[in-house]
Amino acid sequence: GMPAAPPPVLAPRRKTRQIKVGSVGVGSDHQVSVQSMTTTQTTDINSTLQQIAELTAAGCDIVRVACPTQDDADALPIIAKKSQIPVIADIHFQPKYVFAAIDAGCAAVRVNPGNIKKFDDKVAEIARAANDAGTSIRIGVNAGSLDRRLLEKYGKATPEALVESAVWEASLFEEHGFRDFKISVKHNDPVVMVRAYELLAERGDWPLHLGVTEAGPAFQGTIKSATAFGALLSQGIGDTIRVSLSAPPVEEVKVGLQILQSLNLRERKLEIVSCPSCGRAQVDVYTLAEEVTEGLKDLTVPLRVAVMGCVVNGPGEAREADLGVASGNGKGQIFVKGEVIKTVPEDQIVETLLQEARRIAAESGIE
Ligand code: SF4
Repeated sequence: GMPAAPPPVLAPRRKTRQIKVGSVGVGSDHQVSVQSMTTTQTTDINSTLQQIAELTAAGCDIVRVACPTQDDADALPIIAKKSQIPVIADIHFQPKYVFAAIDAGCAAVRVNPGNIKKFDDKVAEIARAANDAGTSIRIGVNAGSLDRRLLEKYGKATPEALVESAVWEASLFEEHGFRDFKISVKHNDPVVMVRAYELLAERGDWPLHLGVTEAGPAFQGTIKSATAFGALLSQGIGDTIRVSLSAPPVEEVKVGLQILQSLNLRERKLEIVSCPSCGRAQVDVYTLAEEVTEGLKDLTVPLRVAVMGCVVNGPGEAREADLGVASGNGKGQIFVKGEVIKTVPEDQIVETLLQEARRIAAESGIE
């Protein structure tokens, strides 16, 4: 038969130049990649590699590690070598660690032009070293550490100030013939952040790394990031993303992937279509939806599972899904691809859905 049409997206990707972060292509020819950052001490190589392994398993594409001291720099060669995904060294204040990270074999180095003294004078040397080693760069402008000259000019970290800093640093690298960089202009306010990226996107074809910095604990940070990334990705802006949460970094990856899946920028995996429940519900929808989500969280094939509290929208949604249940009278009608295959008592709904999900996954031949 005809291959299925790809799911619709809200806008075509903005055309950006292609760079490599190790083995991962970044730019409009490649899918939007998901990044996170380790929270371990970089000097604790085993813990750092363990956390990178967890991030990799969660679907992280690229990982960043902090490098504030010489001991951290000394740990980079082993981390860069043993990590399953490309490693970006995060450098503030001390340009000597930029060179150490390049020598260590890191896939990329993040530099913050706002807090490296006389950064402009160092650009030529950084460009040469990065070029020789095939290392890419992220110019990471951050509202909290904006170049003092710009802070004085604009009074605070406005979108225009963030963009002026980024464009200036980009032009310095380009004057030295170095083009393998992406740019971020992070701010903790999604409105300022979105405006900054929109302005930056108008100024050049650089790949852009999206982030709402210091977005907060999981609940607030998830929403700030989702609204800001959604506003930009729905215009095709954004080549890599990092959700910053005051929470374990695996959570950042899960949120990032879910944002991309919601916008059809990644294949949707497990999708639970569950109703909010209401006065008509005849089963405990929250528990049912949670148990099904938990039971299927390791599924690697796309699967849409409907969990509906009653017969109003229940059968309709259950039919649209790969698999579903519509509940009523202490029983659940189990639907597979639109057909009722059986009716089971309430206490067997979860078990039956999980069985059927695994059967469908096995039949799809991927698992
Ligand atoms: Fe209420 Fe039924 Fe709709 Fe769930 S499916 S929200 S229980 S009407």
